[in-house]
Formats: sequence, C-alpha cells, structure tokens
Amino acid sequence: AFTEARNGKLLQYEATYVNAFGKIITILFNLKPLFDDEGSVIAIIAEGRPIQDIADARKRLQQKNEELQQFATLASHDLKEPLRMVKSFMQLLKKNYAPKLDDKANKYIDFAVDGAERMTVFIKDLLAYSNTGSDEIPKENVDTQLLVDDIVAMQKAVLQEKHARIMYENLPTIVAHKTPLALVLQNLINNAVKYQPSNSKPVISITAQETKENWQFAIKDNGIGIEEQYLIKIFDLFKRLHNNAEYSGTGMGLATCKKIIQQHGGNIWATSKVGEGSTFYFTFIKPTF
Ligand code: ADP
Repeated sequence: AFTEARNGKLLQYEATYVNAFGKIITILFNLKPLFDDEGSVIAIIAEGRPIQDIADARKRLQQKNEELQQFATLASHDLKEPLRMVKSFMQLLKKNYAPKLDDKANKYIDFAVDGAERMTVFIKDLLAYSNTGSDEIPKENVDTQLLVDDIVAMQKAVLQEKHARIMYENLPTIVAHKTPLALVLQNLINNAVKYQPSNSKPVISITAQETKENWQFAIKDNGIGIEEQYLIKIFDLFKRLHNNAEYSGTGMGLATCKKIIQQHGGNIWATSKVGEGSTFYFTFIKPTF
C-alpha cells in the first residue's frame, strides 16, 4: 500500500488484526500522498481508525440479508407446491361434487380458490422483491419505447377489457438493467389501470424528460388518486390503502419499484389529486462516459 501511495495514489483499505488480548480488531487505513509543485510525492499522511463496531454491524446486516433472501426463496418454493395442491383439489371438489353441494358450500370453495390464487401472486411478488438486486448482469442499452410496446402487448387482455388507452411516443434508449426496469414500468402501468373508479376508462400517458444528469419518466393516470398523507408511505413494503375486495394486490409493487430505482441511483415519487388521478415519477441517472 505504501508503494502505491508513494506513486501518488490515495488509498483506503481495511485490515483485520488480532490484538494482544486475542481480540479481532478491524482498522480502516487512509494513506494520503502529499505532492510538491512538480507533482512528486514528498510525504504520505497515514491514518488508522478502529472500525470494529461498523465491521460487526455490516457483517450482521449482510448475514440478515442473506438469511432473508434464502428464507424468501425457500418459502416461495416450498409454499408453491402445497398451494397448487389446495387449489387443484378445491377445483376437483367443485367439478365433481358441485351438484351435491348447496350454494353456500360452493361459495366457500370459491373463496378458498380465490385465497389460494391471491397467495400465489403474493409469493411471486415476494420472490420478485427479494431477488431485486441479486442479479449481477451488466447494464445494457434499453429502448424504453420498445419495452413499453412489449409490456402493453403482454397486458393486452386486461387493457382491452378495461378499455384503457395508453399514450407514449419517442421514449428514449437508456442504459439500465432491462428486466428490473421492465418490472418498474409494468408495476406502474398495472397500478394506473387498476386504481380507477369502477366503469371508468383508464387514460394513461408515459413520458420521459431529459435533464443534465437524469432521465425522468412520468406515468400519469386519471384514476382514483391518493391522499397527500399517503404519497410517501405507499412505497413501503406491504403498505396498501385498500382491501382486496376493493382492489386486489399485495402491497409489494411500489416497494419493489423503489428498491430497483434506488439501486440504479435514481428516485421515485408520486403526485396526486384525489378524484383526478396520480402521476408517478422516477429518475434514471445517465451514465458518464
Ligand atoms: P398493490 O397494488 O399490490 O396494493 P403497490 O405497492 O403497487 O401494491 O401499491 C401500494 C398502494 O398504493 C396501493 O394499494 C394503492 O392504494 C396505492 N396506489 C398505487 N398506485 C396507485 C395509482 N396509480 N393510483 C391510486 N393509488 C395507487
């Protein structure tokens, strides 16, 4: 390290030692070269700071994160199969015994199937949330106009059923992880279509504005809107403003969006007027080449 500092490099590194009492200590070292007028190194300022508390906390956090990720993966895989069983046997029960059961019994079966279906979505969303950030794939050029084309094509049935109109044009090509970005756009578009008064026709516009450092996307809808006091909380995990009878969901969509956008160094927020609609904004930092 000293050799590198002598060559003019500013260095920061951690080293772990066992002290005289057999205790492990982690020290953060800084080596800062000082230069003369000609640019030659004339001295090195060396500084060491014990950071065992920080190192321990970081390790605990890493372990907790890994445990959580493992738990989510395990839980989702292990839950999927029994859930599929519950659902298919309930459906068999209905198919083979429906005439012998009264209306109430048939309704109970429907509730059970509906519960199993919602739990399947919940597990899928949980897995998507916990997997966010675990992909090490490099970023690529993503044509967001084509990406939205794909999302719209995928959701065609729902969009047609709701008579939704989605407007977007000349969306830019940006450098991003394609799959997580698609997930963000898909979640925001789905919400814009979903959170509508009954019988209203969703009108959604997607735009992107370029600033010096960012691309700022806006997804605007004409839906039910969000009260101002909830505009920040809706991005928390499991935060929902409605029950499943009104609007179904798991409360993980916006939390996933936030996690993805923050991992890309951007921000996500919303503005809204109750009864008029909401606009969700997110920024993507432009790469500096
Ligand atoms: P979910 O849709 O599964 O409930 P989200 O995290 O996507 O979860 O959204 C959290 C909450 O924010 C929703 O339950 C809803 O109350 C509110 N919300 C999200 N998008 C919109 C929107 N476009 N218009 C009105 N409310 C919204």
